[in-house]
Amino acid sequence: MKLQFQNLTKTYGHTVALDHFTATMREGVYGILGPNGAGKSTLMNLLTDTVTRDEGEILYEGEDILKKQGKAFRAVLGYMPQQQGLYEEFTARHFLCYMAGMKRLNTRQAKEQIPQLLALVGLSAQADRKIKSFSGGMKQRVLLAQALLGDPKVLVLDEPTAGLDPEERIRIRNYIAEISDRKIVLLATHVVSDIESIAEQVLLLYQGRLIHMDTPQNLIRSIEGKVAEGVCTREELTEYQKKYRIGNVYQRADGLTLRLVGDELPEHFPRVTQQIGLEDVYLYYLEKR
Ligand code: ADP
Repeated sequence: MKLQFQNLTKTYGHTVALDHFTATMREGVYGILGPNGAGKSTLMNLLTDTVTRDEGEILYEGEDILKKQGKAFRAVLGYMPQQQGLYEEFTARHFLCYMAGMKRLNTRQAKEQIPQLLALVGLSAQADRKIKSFSGGMKQRVLLAQALLGDPKVLVLDEPTAGLDPEERIRIRNYIAEISDRKIVLLATHVVSDIESIAEQVLLLYQGRLIHMDTPQNLIRSIEGKVAEGVCTREELTEYQKKYRIGNVYQRADGLTLRLVGDELPEHFPRVTQQIGLEDVYLYYLEKR
């Protein structure tokens, strides 16, 4: 399987929402990381053909998804939207039946897949409850289940953990890891922990541009020497905040410990050599300066 983006561009008035985005994806989880406004939704919307591009191509197996194969592409695409525009009065099972119809699955496929998917997202016992009685996390799981109907080859997940508490976040992340075999999964998020441990490749998107696309390991390596930690007073903290990008601040017995990320760091702050993570990568490349 191969999904290629070539010079994909979308503008809204003077805003370049996506700027000559070029990337090739194969089976695996691709974490698309960027702050609000980076262009993540625009990329998803172009892929699901809900907005029109200005320029560029999206090729699935070598063929543009908008050309004659467009309909065929829709059949291999699963989409979990950001909004919970859910059918509150439906039960989880009815909602999945309805979506199966929209996706033109036949009755046999629907009968087979719906119980499997409900089980996969841990909702078998609640399948006949109305969606309006569900927690945010359960609603997200229903959305994930519907995206998986028809066993899509390309799965698009837009902020799958938006509005969830940490426990539910981990749950959704684990489900995604479980189903990502033999699929191209695009997972857009501004939350680093959503893709931690499940993304084989991370795409850093900033103001419509692809800054980097690489494995988490390589991205982490690329900022070696650019992370430091040191102790300071509360007054000094204010000064540091003006000058540096600050990750965590920890209260310790001897004062505040700051984690700073950048090309220029205070001399007296020891460099962090171990335990640099994707959070630091995010701060270094994507946090506004
Ligand atoms: P993200 O999903 O990363 O938050 P978006 O793709 O939603 O980013 O937005 C990228 C840029 O395009 C932003 O500057 C946003 O304001 C702009 N944008 C997105 N959709 C529209 C729209 N329908 N009309 C005007 N501007 C838009």
